Order: sequence, then structure tokens, then C-alpha cells
Amino acid sequence: MNQPKHNPKCSTCGGSTHVSTITYEQTIGNEHVLITGVPAYVCDQCDSRQFDFNVAAQLERLVDSGTPVRTVETPVYEFSPEAVIT
Ligand SMILES: [Zn+2]
Repeated sequence: MNQPKHNPKCSTCGGSTHVSTITYEQTIGNEHVLITGVPAYVCDQCDSRQFDFNVAAQLERLVDSGTPVRTVETPVYEFSPEAVIT
């Protein structure tokens, strides 16, 4: 990945960002997909993530037509508001 001279500012809060490797998550319909090892700019203040254009393009390609390296089972819980203890 080509590193720009300066990390971009956070698009959410304007804070500074640092380069980190993250796991990208996206839900498409009923399917929840994970992409591991994604280089991202993570905001120092609010943890918001941004991607380089070519990284975002590969994320899109993988979600669209990539072949998963493995599949994990994800437990799903439903929150019930009436069960909240006040
Ligand atoms: Zn931020």
C-alpha cells in the first residue's frame, strides 16, 4: 500500500489518525462478512476508520466476488427491552 505523507484527518471528528490493521465487518442482507488484515486509518479520538481508495476498492471486490478463506459461526442474540432491569 502506498503511504501518503500525512495520514488523513478523521472524517467524523477531524481528529488525527494512525495506521492500523483492522478487521472489516459488513452485513449484506442476512450475511455478516469479515475481512481480516485490512490496513486502515483509525481515529485517535473516536476510533472511526478510513481506507485508502485502493483498499476500499479491494474490500468492495472481496465482498462482491471474493472467495472466503474460512467460515465462522456467529451467535445471534435478540435484545428484549421488556427484560431490562431498571
Ligand atoms: Zn474521529
